[in-house]
Amino acid sequence: MNRATDPKSIAAQAAPAAGNASANGILTVDLGAIAANWKKLEGKGVPAECAGVVKADAYGCGLAPVTKTLSDAGCKTFFVATLDEARTVRATAPTAKIYVLDGLFSGTGDQFAAINCMPVIGDMGELAEWDAFRSTAGWLGTAAIHIDTGMNRLGLSIGEAQGLAPRMKTVNPGFSLVMSHLACAETLGHPMNARQVAAFREIASLFSGVSASLSNSSGIFLGPHFLFDMIRPGAALYGVNPTPEADNPMQQVIDLKARIVQVRHVAKGETIGYGATWTARRDTRVAVAAAGYADGYFRAASGVDGTRSAETIVAGQRCPIAGRISMDLTAIDVTDVTAPVRRGHMATLIGDGITVDELGHHFGTIGYEVLTSLGPRYARVYKDAPASAEPPKAMDQPAPQAGD
Ligand SMILES: *Cc1c(COP(=O)(O)O)cnc(C)c1O
Repeated sequence: MNRATDPKSIAAQAAPAAGNASANGILTVDLGAIAANWKKLEGKGVPAECAGVVKADAYGCGLAPVTKTLSDAGCKTFFVATLDEARTVRATAPTAKIYVLDGLFSGTGDQFAAINCMPVIGDMGELAEWDAFRSTAGWLGTAAIHIDTGMNRLGLSIGEAQGLAPRMKTVNPGFSLVMSHLACAETLGHPMNARQVAAFREIASLFSGVSASLSNSSGIFLGPHFLFDMIRPGAALYGVNPTPEADNPMQQVIDLKARIVQVRHVAKGETIGYGATWTARRDTRVAVAAAGYADGYFRAASGVDGTRSAETIVAGQRCPIAGRISMDLTAIDVTDVTAPVRRGHMATLIGDGITVDELGHHFGTIGYEVLTSLGPRYARVYKDAPASAEPPKAMDQPAPQAGD
């Protein structure tokens, strides 16, 4: 068989670039797909402004490269959770507007001023501290005001927000954004959506002249009256399906491959892994891949007799997990794979049709948590990086041949 042209064999090779020879796995982040996803959401949101939510290391995809990509695509407003994240965004996007969702911690006003970023204020005590800082320091920077419309996480109550009405008639009230957050946006018909949009519409009208924002990724798909002046997508930028009840309109961003460190034979009747949870019902060929729960490949997706495990792709074919996922290793049943499977080949954990949403289902969680759990041990490769970003590491070397 000609290895060079047999597509299955090519998939089986999927070998790491030489510079990543010591990595247990390769996580490829498609920055071009992130840019395309942002542009798609921006188009859907018109005439609202499309911001970018890049908290938690841009949902595990890498804060600096993602910020650069979104900024180059035309994104002008960024949301992060923490001041530390805001500093990274500021270093990458010098003119961007940056909002810090966790708001002002006591005594940190000067740190907001130092990088010209804005707290999202959701508590009256917090607002008083911010006002005090502004008058003492003579800082003219604005803040966002967060109003709770049913989430009961952060935000002023409707009553507290109404109490700010007189302030809105003053010359410089100090707010550049009024926002709320949807609790059930991914469920199209959920009655909470209608309640929240109505409550927000009413309260936002008190903040005339201030940009209003309600919708996260899924909210954008609930209809034009959810768009207001600004939309705040996060997860959809990174390929999570914002419309779980329908096909995913977003491009996949993540490709994750783990190295196969051993291929072994397990006789019928024997068990595999901790707890002996999986029994070979036939003579079985097993590929052991170098990724486990310490890499964010959750143990909940293990192969257990009588249940459905997560799947991986080896040599172009879907293969189930065999036995418990352990800290650094995962056994895969490759008995049915027709192409050769060898030590050094790669198994695809995410990509080629395995989505973060699918994996989230097997992990007992959501695509969001799959992304934010992606482990630090993988070699990271950024694809379609904008020209001025750091070149991808070690991709200039030809891949070693399978079977070497
Ligand atoms: C995280 C977050 C977002 C983005 O939500 P996605 O569902 O990831 O699009 C928007 N707004 C607020 C307040 C958030 O905390």
